[in-house]
Amino acid sequence: MVPNAIEIVEVAPRDGLQNEKVAMATADKLALIARAIAAGARRIEVTSFVNPRAVPQMADAEAVATALPHHDQVTYIGLVMNARGAGRALATGRIDQLGAVAVATDSFAMANQNQTSDGSVAAASDIIAMAQAAGKTAQVTIAAAFGCPFEGEMAPDRVLAMAAALAQAGPVEIGLADTIGVADPAQVSRLVARVRDLIAPIPVRVHFHNTRGTGLANVWAAVLAGAATVDAAIGGLGGCPFAPGASGNVATEDVVYMLQRAGVATGLDLRALIAANHWLGGVMDRTLPGMVARAPVFPKGS
Ligand code: ZN
Repeated sequence: MVPNAIEIVEVAPRDGLQNEKVAMATADKLALIARAIAAGARRIEVTSFVNPRAVPQMADAEAVATALPHHDQVTYIGLVMNARGAGRALATGRIDQLGAVAVATDSFAMANQNQTSDGSVAAASDIIAMAQAAGKTAQVTIAAAFGCPFEGEMAPDRVLAMAAALAQAGPVEIGLADTIGVADPAQVSRLVARVRDLIAPIPVRVHFHNTRGTGLANVWAAVLAGAATVDAAIGGLGGCPFAPGASGNVATEDVVYMLQRAGVATGLDLRALIAANHWLGGVMDRTLPGMVARAPVFPKGS
């Protein structure tokens, strides 16, 4: 069934920039966040509170968080991998929601966050409890839910078992991430539907990378299968430094174009997103992967 509306979480300031060779200036990150808000974004993943030696692009997490504009309707998400990161995020007083990550395989969990897969579920549950104790919310993403860079095919039952365990901790949503961009739409339909049925009424969020060109097809499959929220990054930047061959997120402007044409409201302004793509391309001095921003406006005058 085609829903009337879908929520989009803007992840460019974190996922979009963490894989860039050169760290973006804090002021430019804040300008990107301001553009996302101006375009209508109401949930934004603004940074990650991780070891700056592992992810130097996010070394300014505290500086970004403390300079965030005050906005009643905007939820700022900080990604964290462990209690230490959660403590840092909460200490800024400016992060509304913690984003935890549980990884579906041991090999990738060790590479990404030096935990086993079960250990990452336990850590995510602790992070959710810390957020709740501080009067904040938390969500959790199951990384490599559709395939692992080290172990290959992902058994759906493993993802379902993780979702069931994570649901016990009381996250506001559970995300399914195709961290390395290997998913296909049929696989997405099946897994999203099964996880949705399992964890209801907790909503499902999806996170796709366009590494093999299946990103938008996967978004559409997830939307039809009942996902409530889609992660996307302005310009289609992104990737995971710990997953070999990972590349950009689905571009926010491409997702919004597709959904808007299909009659699904996102609350986002396509023209403002295209302008943000062009601005970001200027800052990064290159053409960004997103496609809609490089194409003529359609229909004319819109
Ligand atoms: Zn990602």
